[in-house]
Amino acid sequence: VLRLRGVRKAYGTHTALDGVDLDVQAGEVVAVIGPSGSGKSTLVRCVHQLETIDDGAMYLDGELLGRRRVGGHLRALPEKAVAAQRRRMGMVFQQFNLFPHRTVLQNITDPPRLVHGRSRADAVERANELLTKMGLEDKASAYPRQLSGGQQQRVAIARAMATRPRILLFDEPTSALDPELVDEVLKVVRDLAAAGMTMVLVTHEMAFARDVADRVVFMEAGRIVETGPPAELFEAPKTPRLREFLRRYA
Ligand code: ATP
Ligand code: MG
Repeated sequence: VLRLRGVRKAYGTHTALDGVDLDVQAGEVVAVIGPSGSGKSTLVRCVHQLETIDDGAMYLDGELLGRRRVGGHLRALPEKAVAAQRRRMGMVFQQFNLFPHRTVLQNITDPPRLVHGRSRADAVERANELLTKMGLEDKASAYPRQLSGGQQQRVAIARAMATRPRILLFDEPTSALDPELVDEVLKVVRDLAAAGMTMVLVTHEMAFARDVADRVVFMEAGRIVETGPPAELFEAPKTPRLREFLRRYA
């Protein structure tokens, strides 16, 4: 579904991504772990094209993201075309990013209606289906501020799923939550994984990564230092960097 080759991204003189290669297959759940500042957020933000990359290439279902070949050259895609590519992905942020003046139902039905041109009836049907999955049937007409953090994050996930994306990108979806609300959000992510959703999940929840991910990617200083199935990576880390990281955080 997703393929990254030699992706580089610098902020001024600071290199945030230093040549990242990554493949995510359909139905695969890839957890991204690593110390603060290692480039995890930058990685998913680049995939979602909230940032432009400086070098390398990214493909979604074989289609080059953000650029097109004109003659022998790569040119930036017009914003409209970038937006169309972005619509095929869903992203969930640490801070929920719901619209405060729209109800739960409106937050979930706005993207398919306004961005994908779906009918209101279709969008509402899909929203109700998602709200049921998230255990939020009774919250459709509530406003985000009337919900707990865990409920808001579940609405944000429903919102991201409303447009039936090819892939979901999560950037630490539970780090802004009170500890007792983390599990209800992780359960939703676990259900999506079981349903075969393709996901890239930046997380500090090591136990969850170990449990749900098909593959774990360890980043450090803008590079993927080690990657493998969770059992291998957590039980038998090959690099001293990962051993050190796990000793501290796992
Ligand atoms: P954390 O675990 O703290 O969320 P991270 O792995 O997500 O860290 P990034 O946010 O991707 O790290 O940041 C990677 C590096 O790029 C950091 O050194 C950060 O300071 C820098 N950086 C990120 N965003 C910007 C920005 N908009 N402008 C300048 N530097 C940035
Ligand atoms: Mg981050």
